[in-house]
Amino acid sequence: MTQNAISPLVPFLLHRGVIRGPSHFPLASGKHTQRLIDMSCLPPYIMDTVRAMAIEKYAGQNIDIVVGVPRGGTPFADVIAPTLSMYRLHGELVRHVILDKNPGDGSFSLRPGSVRPGERALVVDDVGTTYGSLLRACSVLAAAGVVVEHKLVIVNRNPRKRDAVRNGVEFFEHYPIKAFRASHCILCAKGIPLEEV
Ligand SMILES: [Zn+2]
Repeated sequence: MTQNAISPLVPFLLHRGVIRGPSHFPLASGKHTQRLIDMSCLPPYIMDTVRAMAIEKYAGQNIDIVVGVPRGGTPFADVIAPTLSMYRLHGELVRHVILDKNPGDGSFSLRPGSVRPGERALVVDDVGTTYGSLLRACSVLAAAGVVVEHKLVIVNRNPRKRDAVRNGVEFFEHYPIKAFRASHCILCAKGIPLEEV
């Protein structure tokens, strides 16, 4: 699948209510938006599509470990690692490496001995806007000597594709969603009530 191909995933996500709206939602950043992507309510069969996309994009590449950005990326890493293992002709199986999120400050940490210096990683998050969590996860891995070969978000919601390119972020789907500062929100201006999320 190229990044310009017609999406097989987004219609499912809309149909199953994973992408909610159009309505008026608050984001964790404090901004407001018309659409919300809640990958925590993903139907299990969506993972079949994710497997197929992972095979098309990464099968046979030199990837040793798949790391999910907690918590949204973890279930995807859990699916993508064994999928890529099936296409590995030499060497060890592709491992799913767990990254822990520290409850105090939200920072990430690796479990002792879970990676080896020089291993090549695919790092995955569910949804990307500014890629902040994804890039912080990559920094933790780089500090442990891991080579981050691929940074992936399943759905890129940043309206500017060039932001993904600039940060070296790849994506399976591009579903641009505009967000507004609360003080300049066109939905607030129209008097549309904010939904609970
Ligand atoms: Zn608003």
